[in-house]
Order: sequence, then structure tokens, then C-alpha cells
Amino acid sequence: MQRISHWVNNKVVAGTSGRTGKVFNPATGEQQAEVDLASTAEVDAVIAKSKAAFPEWRATGMSRRAEIMFRTRELLDANRKELATFLTLEHGKVPSDALGEIARGIENIEFACGIPALMKGGYSEQASGGVDVYSIRQPLGVVAGITPFNFPAMVPMWMFANAIMCGNTFILKPSEKDPSASMFIADLLRQAGLPDGVFNVLHGDKEAVDRLLVHPDIQSVSFVGSTPIAKYVYETGTKNGKRVQALGGAKNHMLVLPDADLDMAADAAVSAAYGSAGERFMAVSVVLAVDSIADALIEKLASRVPNIKVGPGTDPSAEMGPLISREHRDKVASYINNAAGEGATVVINGTDKAKDAGFFLNPSLIDNVKPGMKCYDEEIFGPVLTVMRVKSYAEGLKTINDNEFGNGTAIFTRDGGVARQFQYDVQVGMVGINVPIPVPVSYYSFGGWKASLFGDQHMYGPEGINFFTRGKVVTSRWPDPRTSAVDLGFPTNR
Ligand code: NAD
Repeated sequence: MQRISHWVNNKVVAGTSGRTGKVFNPATGEQQAEVDLASTAEVDAVIAKSKAAFPEWRATGMSRRAEIMFRTRELLDANRKELATFLTLEHGKVPSDALGEIARGIENIEFACGIPALMKGGYSEQASGGVDVYSIRQPLGVVAGITPFNFPAMVPMWMFANAIMCGNTFILKPSEKDPSASMFIADLLRQAGLPDGVFNVLHGDKEAVDRLLVHPDIQSVSFVGSTPIAKYVYETGTKNGKRVQALGGAKNHMLVLPDADLDMAADAAVSAAYGSAGERFMAVSVVLAVDSIADALIEKLASRVPNIKVGPGTDPSAEMGPLISREHRDKVASYINNAAGEGATVVINGTDKAKDAGFFLNPSLIDNVKPGMKCYDEEIFGPVLTVMRVKSYAEGLKTINDNEFGNGTAIFTRDGGVARQFQYDVQVGMVGINVPIPVPVSYYSFGGWKASLFGDQHMYGPEGINFFTRGKVVTSRWPDPRTSAVDLGFPTNR
């Protein structure tokens, strides 16, 4: 059985805890590897290595850091296909989806190459007589990133690119379900010239996370995953004095108004609901259809769904792959199987496919969904599109704002005034106007509101730089004996 071990000081290091996790091929249902799960002592050892690497990395010139980041970008670009194979093998992504994830991740590396221009501080000459004041941004030290299974390449890139370019050393704790992509990226960073200890990968589960959250030498924690764990990570990390950004789950609504182009809306909803088998935090999970067009829209959705080609990522014609695990596949199927009993209408039931050896489901479509039903109230995270009928724009907006999550949303309309009102009123962090998956480009920042984000700094982009640095303001005066005197009053500037 293949064994996946840790990455410390630019080398693969075998785990010593004696504990391992199982890594499956979701397309066949078979275990294909085992991954080392770190003990508390192993976490401590990696933190010590990262701490030792920090002073020299911090002192490394920005131009040299940028050079390494540019090389990393070139290596990632040249190895897109190889990296994508790990996403197919361990996550089940079809190639178009895996390559899309990598492309969006690389955009974060490209943004980080320009960080020297964005870390410039301010300077005020002559704030008072002979006194200058200026601000600088400095790295935090050893920082940690804990990532989910659904984007094993992109989400780590959201975090480490900014973190290390700002001068920190970084420990990645990837999902134990698909750990190989992080090892491949680690080796590319080594090839790019990143010094030992600046980027380490520690595989593990709750034991490793819990140690990272309390260890005094960890300065910040970036987390992406489900809402209950995000909340736990935020509360535990901040209680232990750390800076934390913790992104949680989602329930993304797409509001379709009567004046929308319904074919375009149906294409967008189907692409955004079933891409990556619905295991995307920005997947459209609920279509809010205004009554007058609801029947027509559902007909258009229902006619498209059966055309989706479900299969393993090794089949070049497959558009949608399996789910991550047997347990998750069965949980998603339970939402579909219980929906009719709760009063919803199951238009297309994809659970037949659950008989396959791999963790597959076919796409499902559920109409007449309402708050109070499990398939609406909970994050499904699978290939299930639900439709809720609403009387008006106002009812659609209220539904979105009443939901506990506030990650992403979209409105489909031709009315610019209504779209502008929607962006003004909606209590969601990322908004699409005729765009179903509004993941911000790398020079903005990513983050939801409400139960989708704990903390106040969004991920990557300019807020990512703020998160990974600390501000310092210097007030300076060079000796001028003519103005020197003892004065116990509070310093004034005039
Ligand atoms: P998860 O919360 O189960 O796991 C995320 C990470 O936390 C993993 O590294 C895991 O090892 C660790 N973890 C799991 N249980 C833990 C525990 N009890 N204590 C400490 N650490 C623990 O999430 P997942 O299943 O890997 O990913 C899917 C979830 O992530 C979905 O809810 C999805 O919406 C969410 N997600 C959100 C975003 C976003 O940007 N908001 C992005 C991607 C995924």
C-alpha cells in the first residue's frame, strides 16, 4: 500500500505516531494509500523547524522572495496536468474541473509575485518639527493553514502564497482525504528554491489541528472547511491568542427574476449546481424561481440534467465525477430520499447510481422546497439542485437574508436597477449578477458573511496581506541639540 508522509525541511519525513488514515479512489471505491496522521510531538517538532527557518526567511530580500514565487508559478504552469491527476485520483474530479481549480490557484501565486508593491507603507515628513512618521508591515512568524478536501490544490494556494511572500513560514495541514496534491506542490516549491523549513506539510486529523490551535509559537490560523469546525477553530484559536480566519459552509441561492433570459439562467444553474458533483462551497444549491416563470424554468432545468455525463475522471468525456467518500455519498442520498416525505417534489432522483462500487450519484433535482425541510436547512454538498418558488423579488431577497449562511449568491435579470438594489441589500459576501459562481479574482478577497466566515479578514488578495502581516508605526527624530529639553507633558505636534 502506498504511504503518504509529511514534508519537513524540503524532504519527505515518515510519520512516527503509528496512526494512519485511509485514502480512497472515489471512482472505484477502493483504498489506494494510507496517510500518516501526526501526533502532538510531531506537530511540535515541525513548529520548531518552521520557527528556526523564520529569521532567515524574513531577512531574505523581497526581490529574492518574488523570484522564488515567479519560479513556483512557472513550475506549476508546466506541471498542471500532473497535479490534476492527483485531484482526479484522490478527489475524483474530472480533468476540466481539476485544471480549472489549478488555474484559479495559480492566479493567487501570480498575485503574490506582486506583493512587494503592495507591502509599501506610508511616510509623512515633518509631522512635527524635525519629526517624520512612517508605517511598515512585518510578517507574523510561523503561521498555519488547515484545508478541506474539496479544493486540495487551490485552497492551500489561497493561503501559502501570500503568507510566505509576506515573510512568514507556513505549516499546511491538508485534508487527510486527498493529501497528495500538497506534497506535489511542496516539491515544486523546493525546486523553485524555497529554503528548508519555509513551507512544511503536516498530515493529520483532529489531534494535529488541536495542537496547532494552542501551540504558543503559531501566530495565525487560516481555516477552510465546514461551519461547525470553522467555529471551533475560530473560538479555540482566538482564545489562545492567535489571529484566525475560518471559512465555513454555504447554502448559495440563485434568484431568477421573470425578465431573465431563462435559457441562460438554466445553463448557469445546471453548471454551477452539478460541477464538481456539487462539492463546491460556491455551488448553486437553491434556485429561487419567481412564480410566473417557475414552471418554465424547471422544465428547462429538467431537460438539461439527464445530459450530464457522469463517470470517472479517467474517462475524457465525463463531466461529473464521484463524491469524496461512501459515507458522504450516502448522506447526500438521504436528503434526496427524504425530500418527498417532507413535502417537496423530487423531479429527478439520481440515487440509482449509488449502487456502483465508486462513490457516484447522478444529478438530482428537487422542486417545491421550503425552509424547515432538511434538504433546504442543511448544506447538502452534493449533486442536488433544489428549487424554491417565491412570489416576488422581495420574497426571494428575504429568503436569502434569513438563511444562516452568507457565502455566495447570484441574481439573474436584465434589469440593472433591480440588480443594483440586490447588491445593496443582500447579506452575502460574494454576489454574482448574471454570474452563477462569483469567486472573486485573486486581487480582491474571498469570504462570506454570517455562518460562512468566522473572523474579520477575508482570504487572499489585499485582505490576505493584512492578515499575514502586522502594522507598525515609527515616529522618528534625528538628534538636533538645539531642540532638546526635558518636558513631562504629553507629546503634541504643534
Ligand atoms: P471539514 O470541516 O470536515 O474539514 C476541514 C479540515 O478540518 C480538514 O483539514 C480536517 O482534517 C479538519 N477537521 C475535521 N474535523 C475536525 C475536528 N473535529 N477538529 C479539528 N479539525 C478537524 O470539511 P471538509 O469536509 O473537508 O470540506 C467540506 C466543507 O468545507 C463544506 O462544508 C464546504 O462548504 C466547506 N468549504 C468552505 C469553503 C469556503 O470558502 N467557505 C471552501 C471550501 C470548502
